[in-house]
Amino acid sequence: MNFMDTEILKIKDGKTDIKSLNLDEMKELMKQLGEPAFRAGQLYEWIHVKMASDYDEMTNIPKSLKQKLLENCYLVALKSVEVQESKLDETKKFLFALHDGNVIESVFMKYRFGVSVCISSQVGCRMGCRFCASTLDGVVRSLTPSEMLDQIYSISRITGQKVSRVVVMGSGEPLDNYDNLLKFIHLLSDGNGHNMSQRNLTVSTCGIVPGIYRLADEKLQINLALSLHASSDEKRKELMPIANTYSISEVLDACRAYFDKTGRQLTFEYSLVSGVNDTDEDAERLGDLLSGLNAVVNLIPVNPIKERDYRPTDRTGAERFKNKLEKRRINVTIRREMGRDIDGACGQLRRRHLEGNI
Ligand code: SAH
Repeated sequence: MNFMDTEILKIKDGKTDIKSLNLDEMKELMKQLGEPAFRAGQLYEWIHVKMASDYDEMTNIPKSLKQKLLENCYLVALKSVEVQESKLDETKKFLFALHDGNVIESVFMKYRFGVSVCISSQVGCRMGCRFCASTLDGVVRSLTPSEMLDQIYSISRITGQKVSRVVVMGSGEPLDNYDNLLKFIHLLSDGNGHNMSQRNLTVSTCGIVPGIYRLADEKLQINLALSLHASSDEKRKELMPIANTYSISEVLDACRAYFDKTGRQLTFEYSLVSGVNDTDEDAERLGDLLSGLNAVVNLIPVNPIKERDYRPTDRTGAERFKNKLEKRRINVTIRREMGRDIDGACGQLRRRHLEGNI
C-alpha cells in the first residue's frame, strides 16, 4: 500500500506529515516524488538533527524539491503564542498553537543536570482525574508524532538550549494515543535522527493496563511513571475514574511485568491531597503495596485548581508521609513544585487561554 494514502500520516489539507516519517518512509516519499534516495537522509537530518522549521532553511535542498515539498508535505512547526516565565526558578511554560487552531502546553525546566522538557500527548484528556485541569473538557484530539517532537524542537529553537531529558507528563494520556507515542519514541531516539537516549525519556500513565503490557514488549529503554495517587481501590476511584476499570493490584502487576521485561526503574507519582490520601494509614498501605518493587515514589502536594476544592498537604504532612515510607525502605522524593507561580499544574494555562483570560 502506498503509505502516502494512509490517514495517520496525513495532516493539514491532506498533505503528508513529513516530520512524522521515519527514514524508510522518507526514502519512499523521495521515490514517489521522483527524487534520488540520498535526499531522504538530507531531509531527515534537516528535520530531526538541525530542527529546521521551514523548507527555506534547507540550504542543500534544490528549489525544485522544495517546491514539491510545499505542494505535497506539511512541515509541523509549532507557533509559540504565549510564554510564562517563573520568577521563582527558570521554569518556562509555553502555549503552542497547532495548525488547526488548537493549543497545547509544554514546560521547560532547568535542573543541575540540564534541561528537561515536559510535553503534552493530546489536546485535553478523557481520563477524568478529579484534581487535573487538562481533563475538565475532555479530549479534543490526539497529537501526531510530529506535534509531540516539535514541542521539544521548538523549545530548543526558542531557548537555544539542548534538551537532555523529556517527560511525557503534560496534558493527555500517552497510552490513549499509543501508536503515535511509539512512533514519537522511535523518531526521538533514532541514531540517524535526533538520537536522544531512551533512558532520558519518561512516559507517565494513569494506568491503562493493556497499554503497559504492550509497552513492556516493545523492547524499549524508556522509564515508566505510574500515577497512583491512592493506597486503596476505594480512594483511587474517588480521584481517578480509570480505577473503576483496573484495580491497583492489576496495575501493579503490569508495572512489575514492565520492570521484569525492561529492567527500567519504576516511578510512582503520588499527589498529596489534604485529608483525602495523606493519612498515616495511607502511608502504611502504600508501603505495603510497594514493598519489594524496585521503585521510587514521587510525592507532590496537589497543585490546586480553581474548579475543585482539593487542598495540598502542607510541608510537615508531606515530610511525615515521606518518613513513613522511608521506614519501609522505599525511595521517596518530594518533588519540587517548579513554576508554581505560572499555572504549574497540567492544563491550567490552556484553560485560561480558552476562557479568554490571556
Ligand atoms: N495522563 C498521564 C500523564 C499526564 S498527567 C498520567 O496520568 O500520568 C502528569 C502527572 O501530573 C500525573 O501524575 C497527574 O496525576 C499529575 N497531576 C495532574 N494534575 C495535577 C495537579 N493539579 N496537582 C498535582 N499533580 C497533578
